[in-house]
Amino acid sequence: MASVLLVEDDPSIRTHLTDFLSGQGHVVRSTSHGFEALREVTQRSPDIVILDLGLPDLDGIDVLRMIRGISQVPVLVATARDEEAEVIRLLNTGADDYVVKPFSGGELLARLGAVLRRTTSRAAPGTAYAKATSDTVRVGGLLIDPGARTAHLDGVQVPLTRREFDLLLYLARHSGRVVSRQRILTDVWRQAYVEDQTLDVHVSALRRKLGERAARPRYLHTVRGVGIKLVSPA
Ligand code: CA
Repeated sequence: MASVLLVEDDPSIRTHLTDFLSGQGHVVRSTSHGFEALREVTQRSPDIVILDLGLPDLDGIDVLRMIRGISQVPVLVATARDEEAEVIRLLNTGADDYVVKPFSGGELLARLGAVLRRTTSRAAPGTAYAKATSDTVRVGGLLIDPGARTAHLDGVQVPLTRREFDLLLYLARHSGRVVSRQRILTDVWRQAYVEDQTLDVHVSALRRKLGERAARPRYLHTVRGVGIKLVSPA
């Protein structure tokens, strides 16, 4: 059971989804306006937000941006457009996932469950990441020990700053997947708005210390316009 904030201005969709999600055991509050949604997020800390992009008072993407400025609550966006550019924009702005309208209750429920499973570890901002288990993470020849806060590449210790270590560990825990810049800033820096260059500077430093260049990456890959991916070199 989760507390869900549904932000949707179409009354029939709102009623339908509220009934459906309540019937599945969730506690649902709903609003049709962006500003009201921001107030709800601040005052009631829902477990998850389902956000329609077309709202009467604010552009949904702006609501998403503002939510990210104040909270790490998981956000599932309902969009009418299934286009690559749109999806990239949503993920970069901090959406955790999206559903394309019209969607079935079953699909919504599946996405909701997946997002909640994936994000419960950051439900308590500022503590979840620090409390992570000290299990060693291995990606190819990289061995990262969160307990000792050390990283070894092919048996040789890599000297890292605190933030570089956090970034490397985070990427290693998501290895093989592209992580959006926004997600990294939210989870590693724990701030929604950090200078874009900050991340670039840290990625460059990491790359140098791993002995690779952007033009010929082995472990650290930048996916232009999307994010960053740490992989085990082939
Ligand atoms: Ca709408």
